[in-house]
Amino acid sequence: MTLPLRTIGIIGAGQMGNGIAHVCALAGYEVLLHDLNEERLKAGLATINGNMARQVSRGLIDEAKRAAALEKIQPETDVAVVAQADLVIEAATENEEIKKKIFQSLVPLLGADTMLATNTSSISITRLAAATDRPERFIGIHFMNPVPVMQLVELIRGIATEDPTYEKAKEFVRSLGKTVSMSEDFPAFIVNRILLPMINEAVTTLYEGVGSVDSIDTAMRLGANHPMGPLQLADFIGLDTCLSVMQVLHEGLGDSKYRPSPLLVKYVEAGWLGRKTKRGFYDYRGEHPVPTR
Ligand code: NAD
Repeated sequence: MTLPLRTIGIIGAGQMGNGIAHVCALAGYEVLLHDLNEERLKAGLATINGNMARQVSRGLIDEAKRAAALEKIQPETDVAVVAQADLVIEAATENEEIKKKIFQSLVPLLGADTMLATNTSSISITRLAAATDRPERFIGIHFMNPVPVMQLVELIRGIATEDPTYEKAKEFVRSLGKTVSMSEDFPAFIVNRILLPMINEAVTTLYEGVGSVDSIDTAMRLGANHPMGPLQLADFIGLDTCLSVMQVLHEGLGDSKYRPSPLLVKYVEAGWLGRKTKRGFYDYRGEHPVPTR
């Protein structure tokens, strides 16, 4: 019987890393949050602070719980300290070389019993695990964005992931109050495998002139009861991220049905990446979003 997890190390304090730190701290774990430099750590902590304050104002948590959770998050620029956690979750930039380098530099510093995880949206868990000394204790823990709000976490076993690692990850996800969906290690796993081709098809529908941005989003909101239209959702995810997942599907599965829409490529080439750049399928620079086509 292995000991329960107490300390969680998180590599990357961006959108996802700070969200993971947020939910872990609220669940009572000691969190060591790491990023490239102090500024990024500060920005991550500021986001957590703001998001927890919103949860307090909505009555989801009380002030004492927020204060206690914030105390549990230690910003840490020294990766050697983070490597000693019971579980280290890598949530750095979606780039295979960056992630492999992170794992390679972690290996000599890891605690003997430290378990490893990655939050990648699409990269092979088996390949990342192979860059470490412990593929049997390596697993994909794929949180959804925004982490404090979304209920689902996908767990992805690499070919070498052993049962106790999977069981421990499952227990960990449940302790955060979230629900597990188990996926095999194939490109983009389950949620993105299904969601992104739908978004890509919406872009092709726009590209072929079947409908405007407004008619496509209205059709899917009111005709399929989706809470937001596919183009609005694409802007929220980031069009570069959407394109990268389509490329992983296309290259990884070799089926032409995953060909990225040329219009999606063009938006990314223009730097119109959605909400984060204030322009995508909608223009967000004014008071209300305005369709760009
Ligand atoms: P982000 O760009 O917001 O954050 C990435 C962070 O990683 C940055 O703060 C960056 O400084 C840091 N970083 C880069 N190299 C590093 C290194 N060597 N050491 C330490 N930190 C480093 O990206 P994000 O949206 O938070 O995505 C992070 C991961 O989560 C990616 O693998 C992504 O695919 C995955 N993911 C993203 C979403 C989403 O909707 N954004 C959803 C699920 C999973």
